[in-house]
Amino acid sequence: MTVTTRFAPSPTGTLHVGNVRTALHNWLLARKHGGRFLLRIDDTDAERSREEHVASIKADLTWLGLHWDGEERQSARSELYEREFQKLIAAGRVYRCYETAQELDLKRKVLLGRGLPPIYDRAALSLTEADHAAKAAAGEAPHWRFLLDRDAAIEWSDAIRGLQHFDPAKMSDPVVRRGDGSWLYLLPSVIDDIAMGVTDVLRGEDHVSNTAAQVQMFKALHAQPPRFAHEALLVGTEGKLSKRLGSLGMGHLRDEGIEPEALVALLARLGTSDPVDPALGTEELAAQFDLAHFGRAPARFDEAELHRVNAGVVHRLPYARVAHLLPAAMGEAGWEAIRPNVEHIGEAADWWEVITGPIAPPALPDEDKAFLAQAATTLARTGTDWAALTMALKEASGRKGKALFLPLRLALTGREHGPDMGALLPLIGAEEALRRLSA
Ligand code: GLU
Repeated sequence: MTVTTRFAPSPTGTLHVGNVRTALHNWLLARKHGGRFLLRIDDTDAERSREEHVASIKADLTWLGLHWDGEERQSARSELYEREFQKLIAAGRVYRCYETAQELDLKRKVLLGRGLPPIYDRAALSLTEADHAAKAAAGEAPHWRFLLDRDAAIEWSDAIRGLQHFDPAKMSDPVVRRGDGSWLYLLPSVIDDIAMGVTDVLRGEDHVSNTAAQVQMFKALHAQPPRFAHEALLVGTEGKLSKRLGSLGMGHLRDEGIEPEALVALLARLGTSDPVDPALGTEELAAQFDLAHFGRAPARFDEAELHRVNAGVVHRLPYARVAHLLPAAMGEAGWEAIRPNVEHIGEAADWWEVITGPIAPPALPDEDKAFLAQAATTLARTGTDWAALTMALKEASGRKGKALFLPLRLALTGREHGPDMGALLPLIGAEEALRRLSA
């Protein structure tokens, strides 16, 4: 069976690093096995779902290079849900309930007060057809619960968490459909996973208890449950699930100069024992992706680390990948010269200004002025060959090390540090270099 994974965001907001990580892992798992990665928009909550969020989710996945092989929208699949739901009614696996939120709350409190687990008491199961008719006549619409099989222990071998065991007798029958006919998340997700041939459900550990109920739903619909893997959640450097992390969107990271390759390199391995390596491309990341390498401890996301990985990625980006983001005249030689010195592509433009000028002449001590005049005459002879220029100057002036190089760098670039002068000087050009040395 072709490995088929899916990413199923609810379009109630934009993506943040946590759900991007889940999307990426599903994508890598599919790629590793030459399988399919599907995008499922979980938009059954009509009130909170927004078209603009669907657009931004797709734009972010595209930016990250996570292309999907198929797309479904839950809002367009209600006929399928209705058909499957009728099967569950016929099989007696869903039942009608009328308790209000307040009534349920009261039941819970009573149970807790007696030191008992707050499990739904299934009171609605004993309603007769006459009771239901009376409720209907009074204008009361039922919501529906899925009837858990309390005799069938729930077990699955989680690819990250190991063997999982749940006792259905200790679980409430989950509500799957509201009084207005709308769907809650649990059941449509199962129906879709079956219909879409999903073989692997990889999602956050906040879904573990959902999975317990869903395992029985798969069986009630006569389907084999998929393989499950629940990853530990992402936490910030302070060790908590910070608000900041939950709202850290791709737009913000893009504005900060983070490249998609950096985010992919970091998130692919966050939570695993594998080292983060900016040199790895998606092929290698997919080939080496292994759920067995994930630990159960929360994965720490550190923005400073992301910037370090970003620098590593930027230092390797070929000209063709960045050309459209650089000043038009910079060219490949310009990028090659500057690349080792920038952490973000945007900084290349600043260095290009240093190369093209004009630069503000730096304040230099008097003793350097004669040396720079000497440098100007030497440069007229050697041209922009940095090695030849400094060699000749070393001999003529007796200077070496910092005393030799720093005044030259300062005069030629206006800065104390920067890209390799051997690469910069030809870009500055002999004429401009002479002007700067004589300024
Ligand atoms: N829409 C659900 C969520 O965003 C999907 C969970 C799942 O992967 O099944 O949490």
